[in-house]
Amino acid sequence: MCASHCGGACLLKVHVRDGIITRIETDDGEEPQLRGCLRGRAYRQRVYAPDRLLYPLKRVGQRGEGKFERISWDEALDTTARELLRVRDTYGPASIILAQMTGDVCSLNNFGAMDRLLSMAGGYTSPWGVTSFQGGVYASLVTYGTWFCSNTRDDLLNSRLIIMWGWDPASTVTGPNTCWYLAQAREAGARIICVDPRYTDSAATFAHQWIPIRPGTDTAMLLAMAHVMIREKLHDQAFLSTYTVGFDRFSDYVMGAEDGLPKTPRWAEPITGVPAATIEQLAREYATTRPAALMTGIAPGRTAYGEQYHRAAITLAAMTGNVGVHGGDAGARAWESVMGGFPYPVNSMISAIPRVSNPVEKAFPRTAGPLFYRRPRIHFSRLADAILKGKAGGYHADYKALVVAQCNYLVQFPNSNKIARALMSLEFMVL
Ligand code: SF4
Repeated sequence: MCASHCGGACLLKVHVRDGIITRIETDDGEEPQLRGCLRGRAYRQRVYAPDRLLYPLKRVGQRGEGKFERISWDEALDTTARELLRVRDTYGPASIILAQMTGDVCSLNNFGAMDRLLSMAGGYTSPWGVTSFQGGVYASLVTYGTWFCSNTRDDLLNSRLIIMWGWDPASTVTGPNTCWYLAQAREAGARIICVDPRYTDSAATFAHQWIPIRPGTDTAMLLAMAHVMIREKLHDQAFLSTYTVGFDRFSDYVMGAEDGLPKTPRWAEPITGVPAATIEQLAREYATTRPAALMTGIAPGRTAYGEQYHRAAITLAAMTGNVGVHGGDAGARAWESVMGGFPYPVNSMISAIPRVSNPVEKAFPRTAGPLFYRRPRIHFSRLADAILKGKAGGYHADYKALVVAQCNYLVQFPNSNKIARALMSLEFMVL
C-alpha cells in the first residue's frame, strides 16, 4: 500500500526488475477501487530521488550551518548510543526528548522502535498533542467525546448539499475514494459549495459555487450563519432540544444578548471579506437542504483559537439536524471516519513493535486530557520553551538531548525561530 500520510492507504502494484522499481500501477479491479493518486503512483521518483538520504551524516560545521559529512553506520550508532547514555547518566533520562510524529506511516521506520529503545534504556520525555489538527481534536472531544465523528465517504452519495469548508480532498485525499464519491454525488444532483481562500483543485472540479474567505476568519462567518438561522427560525429546535445542551447560551452570544454585539452577516462581512448576502444565502441553503454534509477541513483550525472554528461548525451541524443522519455530517474534523483518518488500523503496525512502559512516566498517574496527555509530557507547541527554560521555567527536567523521529521539528511546528534558538542550546540532537 501507499504509505503516504494522506490516509488513503491505496493499493500499489510495484513492478521490480533486478531489484529496481520499473513502474508502479494501482488498483484497476472492481469498484470501489483503492485507486492511488499521482502522488502514490510517483513513489518511484521518491525512492530514487537524488537528494534522498541514503547513509548517515554527521554535522561538521556549526549547528544550523548546513555542513555535514558522511559517516559509517557503526560510527552513527556508536555516537548516538554514547551521547544518549552520557546525557542520561549526567542529567537523568527525562532530559532526553523524543519528538515523534506520524510522518509516513511506515511499518519499519516509525517512532515505535525509538520509543521502545529509549524506554528500555531508562525512559525519556515525550511530547503530547497533535500539531496537525489539535483544534479539531479538542473541539471533537469536548463536544462529542470522540474524535471519530465523520460519516463514511460513501455516505456522501446520500447528501443533497455538500459544503467543502477549507477541505480540498483533490489534493489531500483524506481517505480513499473521497473524490470518486464526490464526483458521483455531483452527478447524482448534489449541490456542492466550497468555502476556501484558494480556488482549490476541489473547488475547480466539484464546486457549483466558490466562496473565497479571508484566512483565519471562518468562525466569524459560521457565527453569522448561525445568526441568520436563529433570526429566521430555520434551526432544528427539535433536534437541539433532544440531543444537545447549551444552545441557549450559544444563541445568546450569537444574537448579542451576552455582549451587546449581534454576530450578523453585516458584522462578519468586513472580518471575513465575504459579502453579507452570500453568508445569508449559504445559511439558508444549509438550513433548508436536507440532508447536508458540512465537510470541515483542518487547515482553518490551524490558527490561533482554531478550535473555535471547529466548535462553531459542529454547532451548525447540530442546528441543522445533520448529525448522525445519512447524507449529513457531524461537522467535526472531516478526516476521521474510521481510524483517525486511516481506512484501517495502521496503528497496529506501529504497535507491532512491542511497547514497554516509559520509566520517566511511570511514577505519574494517567491524567484525563485532550489527547495522549500524561505527566510529565510537554505539549508539542511548548517543546521549544521547555528546552530553553527547563526546570527554571517550571518544566519537569532540564532538556539536553533531542531525538526526532518521522517529522521535521524545525519547520513543521509553530514558531520556527524559537525552535531554532532551542535547538542551538541542546548538547546532542539526532534525527
Ligand atoms: S491517495 Fe494517498 S494513499 Fe492513495 S496513492 Fe495517493 S497519497 Fe497514496
